[in-house]
Amino acid sequence: MKYKAPRGTQDVLPVESWKWQRVESVFRETAARFGYEEIRTPVFEETELFARGIGDTTDIVSKEMYTFEDRKGRSLTLRPEGTASVVRAFVQHGMGRGARVTKLRYFCPMFRYERPQAGRYRQFWQWGLEALGSSNPAIDAEIIHFSVSFFAGLGIRNTGAKLNSAGCPTCTPDYNELLRRELAPKLGEFCQDCQTRYERNPRRMFDCKNPHCQELLDGAPSILDALCDECRDHFAAVRAHLDAIGVPYTLDPKMARGLDYYTKTIFEIHYEKLGAQNALCGGGRYDGLVEELGGASTPACGVSSGVERLVMALEEEGAFGENAPAPDVYLVAGEGDCASSNVELAARLRERFAVEMDYQGRSLNKQMQEAGKLGARFVVVNNGPGGPLRVRESGAGWEVEATLESVADVIAARMAE
Ligand SMILES: [Zn+2]
Ligand SMILES: [Zn+2]
Repeated sequence: MKYKAPRGTQDVLPVESWKWQRVESVFRETAARFGYEEIRTPVFEETELFARGIGDTTDIVSKEMYTFEDRKGRSLTLRPEGTASVVRAFVQHGMGRGARVTKLRYFCPMFRYERPQAGRYRQFWQWGLEALGSSNPAIDAEIIHFSVSFFAGLGIRNTGAKLNSAGCPTCTPDYNELLRRELAPKLGEFCQDCQTRYERNPRRMFDCKNPHCQELLDGAPSILDALCDECRDHFAAVRAHLDAIGVPYTLDPKMARGLDYYTKTIFEIHYEKLGAQNALCGGGRYDGLVEELGGASTPACGVSSGVERLVMALEEEGAFGENAPAPDVYLVAGEGDCASSNVELAARLRERFAVEMDYQGRSLNKQMQEAGKLGARFVVVNNGPGGPLRVRESGAGWEVEATLESVADVIAARMAE
């Protein structure tokens, strides 16, 4: 074989793609109930947008971007996440004018140059929501509630939120200093990455996967004890809303989302069967980002996560069942000369039903087997021009005769019973 999909990419074949469709349709329906409208942004943007929007010190920007020059020498980057593009579009189109909060959703591919491993790809899909224009803690709670509802709609119940605060420019400088002071005596014992994080953004040390670093962080001061009044009140209000809605949560003062732009509430949704490491999604508030990217000061909050990992989790849960979509009708060419009348019959039936048929001149038995394999609810046997059609419902012991004129109504009537 000469050509293969590039390393770190995958083809989603029909045997899998129906599961993706289910995830996307539940996402779309749930988002509609919560009032989030779709936005589609370009696959690539100016590199500078991501450098500013995500932060040059993040792994995404420093190591993982697909950056290239176009024919005019402009530096462009395949989008590695959704928020920066959505904010760019929000500012560019003046979507913040007027009193309404702008509530957007997306479901699209992202690109990061990472080491491929199970469930992690260089082209991967993300679903996400962004709500721009309100600092109301009701928005934070709504987005967390959406996430839990989305997973429940897919068959994953008993999820819970982990909450923390990322503080704000008023309270984080003091907290960063406190953290540096407390960790300074053991700094030499931390991994090299953590020592860099210590200088640039010590809260990022909580993100380290190294178990020894995690041990060293036990007992480190909690940001929840260091919040300014505004952040503390906001956090309390988010919690009160979640209590009222009935979304369970725990506080996790060590949680630090891997991006620079978060302020106030940050959260992850966990599912105990997946283990503590595997959040189903994460997000939070980013009140400073719109201004950072050239817009008017606009509070905002969002959530996103990878679709591949979600599909894997749903498979492990057996949440898809065995029910791949099946045709309503399988059209069997019987003994007579009926191949061409089946073309006409299929065309008529397809005005109302999903119809599959034989194209290879196979025997009646082979066609019946195929109908069973596909899980078609009805089999229609055509025994040639002029003869009656036999309509059979699989596994129901129900069988009637019909004509070319009546067959669609006969099937529809049986479906409606
Ligand atoms: Zn604060
Ligand atoms: Zn470390």
